[in-house]
Amino acid sequence: MLDSAMFGYSTHSGSSSSGESQRRMKDKVREAGASRRTQRDVQFLEDRFERLSLVCMAMWSLLQDKTNLTEQDLLDRVQTIDLMDGQADGKATKVGVVKCHKCSRPMSERHMRCIYCGAEKRASSAFDRV
Ligand SMILES: [Zn+2]
Repeated sequence: MLDSAMFGYSTHSGSSSSGESQRRMKDKVREAGASRRTQRDVQFLEDRFERLSLVCMAMWSLLQDKTNLTEQDLLDRVQTIDLMDGQADGKATKVGVVKCHKCSRPMSERHMRCIYCGAEKRASSAFDRV
């Protein structure tokens, strides 16, 4: 049980009723929890972004060392892939709906399994699991 005194609030202060004060305190506690989760999620995404950037830089460095590819080759390919969805928006948006190989229903990009039958999403590319 939450104790309002722990957070410096008194349930008997001012003209508000005790129930209203407790509701406000509970709202503040709920908001603080949501804020902590948001900060943790942002940190997770920042860490993931840094790891992906590092791997991309390493792959590009390796490709340059082992091939005759140039920065212009990379820039041209980025533009080509960016335009695959018809928009030059700096994003590699996936085109089309992936259907479940087991039940043929549309599969969510956010889930690794079919939400209808539970079949695992098949990866046709290494990037399908990113
Ligand atoms: Zn399915």
